[in-house]
Amino acid sequence: MTDVAIVGAGPAGTSLALQLARSGCDVTILERRVFPRTKVCGEYLAGGARSALSDLSIEDRALRGAHPIRSISLSAFGSEPVRLRLPSPGAVSLERAVLDSRLLEAALAAGASLKQGSFMRSSERSLSNRARKTGRSSSNGLVDVVYRDEHGAERSLSARVLVGADGAWSAVAQRNGMAKPGAGGRWAVGGHLEGQTDSDELEMYVGPGGYYARNPLSATVVNSMLVLPRPAQASEAEAAVATITSGRRRFEADALQRRVAIGPLRYAAEHLCARRTILTGDAAGLLDPFTGQGVSCALRLSFSAAETIAGLLAGGRPERLAARYAAEWRRAVGMRKVLSFLIDALMRNGALRRRAHAKVRQDPSIAEAMLAAISGYAPIGAALSPGLLWRLLA
Ligand SMILES: Cc1cc2nc3c(=O)[nH]c(=O)nc-3n(C[C@H](O)[C@H](O)[C@H](O)COP(=O)(O)OP(=O)(O)OC[C@H]3O[C@@H](n4cnc5c(N)ncnc54)[C@H](O)[C@@H]3O)c2cc1C
Repeated sequence: MTDVAIVGAGPAGTSLALQLARSGCDVTILERRVFPRTKVCGEYLAGGARSALSDLSIEDRALRGAHPIRSISLSAFGSEPVRLRLPSPGAVSLERAVLDSRLLEAALAAGASLKQGSFMRSSERSLSNRARKTGRSSSNGLVDVVYRDEHGAERSLSARVLVGADGAWSAVAQRNGMAKPGAGGRWAVGGHLEGQTDSDELEMYVGPGGYYARNPLSATVVNSMLVLPRPAQASEAEAAVATITSGRRRFEADALQRRVAIGPLRYAAEHLCARRTILTGDAAGLLDPFTGQGVSCALRLSFSAAETIAGLLAGGRPERLAARYAAEWRRAVGMRKVLSFLIDALMRNGALRRRAHAKVRQDPSIAEAMLAAISGYAPIGAALSPGLLWRLLA
């Protein structure tokens, strides 16, 4: 038996495991893939991710050798790119295979243990009176977790709390009635391009129905990621990038290394907690990758998840803890979802987009203030302040 079983060794699961292990909990991580593993991601780490890693006291270790990103060049529907400076100390980019392995190493070094296997199902049971009297738990219940190990054998594990940190379309959420399979959403395809010119600027191009981002990962490699309303074949991706970037960039499908594709990019859990099962990171809800905030939010939410689990282990009332956790999620992640929806809507409305573009060209500090709030350098509410929206659109 373990105190906490965490399904998924992405940033959400490992940052949580690290905190729980440091506080003396017995933590088991269940991960289906062998690390280092790739993950579909733009590999951009905003200020919020840096500050969360710093709060976990692992920023230097986790980000060793990361590439600095100091500005974002934004171009919408063929407009001339607007250069937005990121607030100091800027952002960084780092391969997810590297970042995620380092976070896992940190969690294991703190005392968490790892089981290789794929989550299948779980069920909760009450402890018998006798077990309740003699067991470690004053709170009465266990979760039995069934998984398939790396050799294909079915195994089980009991935990006092189960965490679904298994990413978007979480099996933990769906098999416990906390999320339903959704419909709609965009699709992403991308990978790494070598032989590029050195740059510390992320390029973002927005066009009809989709967007294309190039994030420098080193002096010679960029992460190239295209997001479209449907799954794209290589030839379609080439044409789409030519349209979205007005011919400034090519997709270069044949040159892509570590090619990845994923979709549809729409998923949200209906419940974040169900008694002794809680969801965190993308398993709780997927943010539009456009904002580049997924890792930041996954790391930040792990602090609230750790508090909620400590409360459950101490025998706190699950309903009260669930309500507090949901409020924390809305504050850390929900507001960013609202903001990314608004920015998307703004970009797609011709009149508003042209007005905002003219204003931002005149005074880039308006968009930089928004970027600071989205990226976690300033409170997220600052990006939605009436004063800023007035300066942008009036
Ligand atoms: C196209 C795209 C671009 C993105 N770009 C960025 C970006 O530039 N910057 C940014 O910050 N965010 C970005 N994101 C978002 C970011 O990738 C996620 O928000 C982040 O990975 C969430 O971390 P997580 O730990 O919740 O989930 P994941 O990183 O998805 O980790 C989940 C883990 O669970 C494991 N798992 C899944 N199912 C099971 C199972 N049944 N049993 C056992 N293990 C299981 C998986 O193998 C995986 O290791 C992007 C997302 C997409 C789709």
